[in-house]
Amino acid sequence: MSIATQSTDSGLILALSKGRIFEDTLPLLEAAGIVVTENPETSRKLILATNDPGVRVLIVRASDVPTYVQYGAADFGVAGKDVLLEHGGEGLYQPVDLNIACCRMSVAVNAGFDYETAVRQGARLRVATKFTHTAREHFASKGVHVDLIKLYGSMELAPLVGLSDAIVDVVSTGNTLRANNLVEVEKIMEISSRLVVNQAALKLKRARLQPIIEAFEKASALQTKQG
Ligand code: AMP
Repeated sequence: MSIATQSTDSGLILALSKGRIFEDTLPLLEAAGIVVTENPETSRKLILATNDPGVRVLIVRASDVPTYVQYGAADFGVAGKDVLLEHGGEGLYQPVDLNIACCRMSVAVNAGFDYETAVRQGARLRVATKFTHTAREHFASKGVHVDLIKLYGSMELAPLVGLSDAIVDVVSTGNTLRANNLVEVEKIMEISSRLVVNQAALKLKRARLQPIIEAFEKASALQTKQG
């Protein structure tokens, strides 16, 4: 299904989220000759111009990037594996792991909570998370019974106030967990961000998209090698 600007407009639309994904994508765009000429941190605009009149950038919530690309409202985007697993990836072509915005998806509990024993004894765990699909799969694969509590942010608060026994969240430095007296007890998976492309756009706009995909691929491989 595609409701889009794309059949009438030959320009390209890229969906990005503010913050780390936006910042880490800028050098990749520059490698493709594209410079974003407005700053989403200071501008209130949701559609940003670039030096190329044929390329515009949509600023959307990280979890909405796959949806904009799936329906063709954006031709391509950058989304974390965490977000893509929750979305399901339908209608998306995922040609490149960009190795940016790297972190991990983990289980964390209050510092005093004996997670190993609770899991071993088959206790029913209350787990708060935004990532319900990933959490359900993870605990099902371990045979652990869980009650999932869906939250939309500040997961770290849930165990502190007794809303849950554990959380499933993305962790980067671990500073947020430490600041809230939480302990990471299990790593579920490594997370990085991927380039996602609308499947119809890839066919209809291949001539414009292919060089950008290749430039992203080369620049991210180079960064990974150097980093
Ligand atoms: P940290 O304190 O560095 O471990 O960062 C953890 C906080 O930042 C959590 O609230 C996460 O939701 C968020 N976070 C860290 N890295 C990422 C990432 N790559 N993508 C999305 N959220 C992240």
